Amino acid sequence: MDGNNNPIVNLISKPDNMLKTIYTACRTCYSADYPINIYNSDADEEKMLKLINRVISSGHYSTIEHIQVSFTIANVSRACTHQLVRHRLMSFSQKSQRYVKEKGQFDYLIPPTIEKDEKLKAKFADFMGKISNVYQEFVDSGIPAEDARAVLPNACATSLVASLNLREMIHLANLRLCTRAQYEIRTMVKMMCDELIKEEPWLKDYLVPKCVASGFCDEDKSCGRMPKLQDLIKQD
Ligand SMILES: Cc1cc2nc3c(=O)[nH]c(=O)nc-3n(C[C@H](O)[C@H](O)[C@H](O)COP(=O)(O)OP(=O)(O)OC[C@H]3O[C@@H](n4cnc5c(N)ncnc54)[C@H](O)[C@@H]3O)c2cc1C
Repeated sequence: MDGNNNPIVNLISKPDNMLKTIYTACRTCYSADYPINIYNSDADEEKMLKLINRVISSGHYSTIEHIQVSFTIANVSRACTHQLVRHRLMSFSQKSQRYVKEKGQFDYLIPPTIEKDEKLKAKFADFMGKISNVYQEFVDSGIPAEDARAVLPNACATSLVASLNLREMIHLANLRLCTRAQYEIRTMVKMMCDELIKEEPWLKDYLVPKCVASGFCDEDKSCGRMPKLQDLIKQD
């Protein structure tokens, strides 16, 4: 752990030929030429992006499913990863609480709303200490880790490798960058997006909250960033 309360997110794998692969997928749909000739053509970045943007905007999403990216993620809570693993088109390998026994005080994440209050923060830390003692007592008396973990909290730190294709990445960003998403998963997904945008700047227009992608908000409680869908319909 790096001793702070932030997720540690790193992009560890993405194809070097991302644009070319998507471009080939897009052009193949509209060309009489062999896909390999399209791949080997010398289309420049501007030309490739023009076609790719047009095809994605028209909802032809299979073309971006060919791109797989992987992240390592650490220093996040089990509460956060419980939400992440709801994304069914992602692949995960997560630190096991069955095979990895906690030794001494387990690592945990303190929600910022609690952390900013010194008294509540101390109470939180004290409670984590008590849980750790009970967990340790169970393990020391021979209870297997897979059962002793029943007392561990949502705040427990975890780590995982997460992989997904570009279509799912955009979907993940659309849902989890929304201000209605819980702060920790929002922070973590923002870091995933930033890592990928560093390598592929053209993705910055796609890795956005759903309201930015659609131009309206469909949430009950809106943050006000975009007009509510119902209000737009009423105006018509
Ligand atoms: C702000 C927020 C609050 C939430 N609150 C709750 C909550 O209170 N309780 C709760 O249980 N969950 C909650 N969720 C989780 C939510 O219901 C989804 O499970 C989660 O966001 C994954 O989204 P998804 O199903 O669109 O995406 P993915 O599982 O990533 O799937 C991507 C897309 O593939 C398609 N797809 C995947 N599987 C199927 C399928 N079986 N059938 C048809 N189409 C499929 C859908 O088009 C889907 O959008 C919340 C999510 C958000 C963002």
